[in-house]
Amino acid sequence: MRFADLHLHTFHSDGTRSPREVIDLSHDAGIDIVAISDHDNLAAYFDIKSYADDRGVTLVPATELSCGYEGIDVHILAYAFNPFDERIDERLRQFREVRQRRGVTMVERLKSLGYEIDVARVVELAGGGAMGRPHVARALVESGHVSSVSAAFELLLGTGKPAYVEKARFRIEEAIDLVHGSGGLLSIAHPTLYPDHDRIVPQLLDAGIDAVEVFHPDVDDENRDRYRNLARFRGKLVTGGSDDHGTAKAVETIGTVKVPESLIGAILERV
Ligand code: AMP
Ligand code: FE
Ligand code: FE
Ligand code: ZN
Repeated sequence: MRFADLHLHTFHSDGTRSPREVIDLSHDAGIDIVAISDHDNLAAYFDIKSYADDRGVTLVPATELSCGYEGIDVHILAYAFNPFDERIDERLRQFREVRQRRGVTMVERLKSLGYEIDVARVVELAGGGAMGRPHVARALVESGHVSSVSAAFELLLGTGKPAYVEKARFRIEEAIDLVHGSGGLLSIAHPTLYPDHDRIVPQLLDAGIDAVEVFHPDVDDENRDRYRNLARFRGKLVTGGSDDHGTAKAVETIGTVKVPESLIGAILERV
């Protein structure tokens, strides 16, 4: 029996690890099926595909898309689509550009609030990948304005806080169209993190999302069982992953979620 972690980030988005480190740590933890799901970026896949092959790790093409649904940000994981699809590549590139501009806007907003940070440092932390609030948060910590990344979100960057800036989001229908059109499947990431999730999750499945991420550090036992049953009842799939962001999160997460390959056959047969 092989095990999978289908939700991991690298420094190509808001994680701190290299793709190689992710493959090595996963392999050491007994995980031989890996999906690096950087926000709006496939760079890790191309970086590390041949290394993963050499180590006997199955690498699943993946990305995490920020979708708008009833005015909130819903994260949808895309899996096992064609990684060379030009439409997907172009859309992700556009979203990364928007993220860069939004990062600059956030820095300006922070400055007007009295929290001056160097925009070049935020750009550097994002490393040419998908820039996000965590990079801004880290620059705020480094410059001594706040004590931690979570404090930065709490005080300034969280939804509705003074330095929060909206970003462009996928419409659910576009995400479904793009990923299904390229042979892939979609899963609702960390389902319990959305307000009113017991109403929204079934609606998203009915709209055409294929799966729910029931194995995730933020999904408790009760919700895991509830959403497993919901998925089964609707003929949908389940997925899972650690959502590792490296040291961007306080706790070690690689190895804490191990999904048996027998549960994700529909994804594996598309790889
Ligand atoms: P963005 O895509 O730029 O809007 O940033 C969202 C990312 O910020 C998420 O993918 C998480 O990695 C991270 N994040 C969201 N909320 C928090 C929080 N309260 N504390 C720390 N990180 C967070
Ligand atoms: Fe993230
Ligand atoms: Fe997410
Ligand atoms: Zn994630």
